[in-house]
Amino acid sequence: MKPTTTFAELAELCQKTNKKIYEIAQEEESSLLECTEQNVRKRVQETLKAMQEAINEGLKSDEKSASKMVGADCAKLKKYYEKNEGLFSQPYQNIIKYALATSEQNARMGKIAACPTAGACGIVPAAMIGIGTYLKVENEILINALLTAGIIGRIISEKTALAGAVGGCQSECGVASAMAAGAVVEILGGNAEQIINAVALALKNILGLVCDPIAGLVEVPCVKRNPFLAIHALTAAELALADIKSFVPADEVVDVLKQIGALMSPTLKESAQAGLATTPSAIKITEELNKTCQK
Ligand code: SF4
Repeated sequence: MKPTTTFAELAELCQKTNKKIYEIAQEEESSLLECTEQNVRKRVQETLKAMQEAINEGLKSDEKSASKMVGADCAKLKKYYEKNEGLFSQPYQNIIKYALATSEQNARMGKIAACPTAGACGIVPAAMIGIGTYLKVENEILINALLTAGIIGRIISEKTALAGAVGGCQSECGVASAMAAGAVVEILGGNAEQIINAVALALKNILGLVCDPIAGLVEVPCVKRNPFLAIHALTAAELALADIKSFVPADEVVDVLKQIGALMSPTLKESAQAGLATTPSAIKITEELNKTCQK
């Protein structure tokens, strides 16, 4: 079975076969991995379990990363919500906590599921598990959502590498946000057109995001970028579910993502040579970290 390589193809296939996106994803994965569809679901379940464990571990910890730049913010947010009602409703509060919890776990070298990358690992789990837990959905629904997120990431990766070093952070956190948006639409019962539209909306509104990690570590701005982009995904999902359309279709937005990635200066693509990585605060901590390494 030849896997779909564009969102237009995917939409057409869903229409022709009267199947949901996750069913197509399941069939394609089964063919690519040469295993049964049941085994594909088992593998997805394992990833889901790793995502849930990363959230749980992250929520328990206030340990800082080795550089001390990040690590204790989820604990602060938890304390804040214990004492304050907050502006966000419950599922949104959980989503930003889960995104921080997961990405802080990554910075502490804990176990996470890269989705699509380690730097962007908090976005898909936070959005999916946050909404899934709030609505008390069955595990099978979450597996369907993760399969949906997976095929979205794979189709985008057909055209461009999902790496900050190639396309800036739009290719990592931006793509994660598009995957999360599609997954949330699936959980909420949206159709294939709405899922693909959520992808276009999420991606279109994050184009040009640069990759400028301080000291070359996947910590600042990466960790805090995850909760922002998880909420970004929710906005795209809500708009798509209301049948608000992206004027530019998803495949064309992916083409633009690739174009912008190619036009972006190499100094803004994970090389820590510009952007936040060259601010006075960044230079100071980079020098301190270099001195510690030399000792
Ligand atoms: S800033 Fe760069 S390293 Fe950090 S998450 Fe984004 S793409 Fe990854």
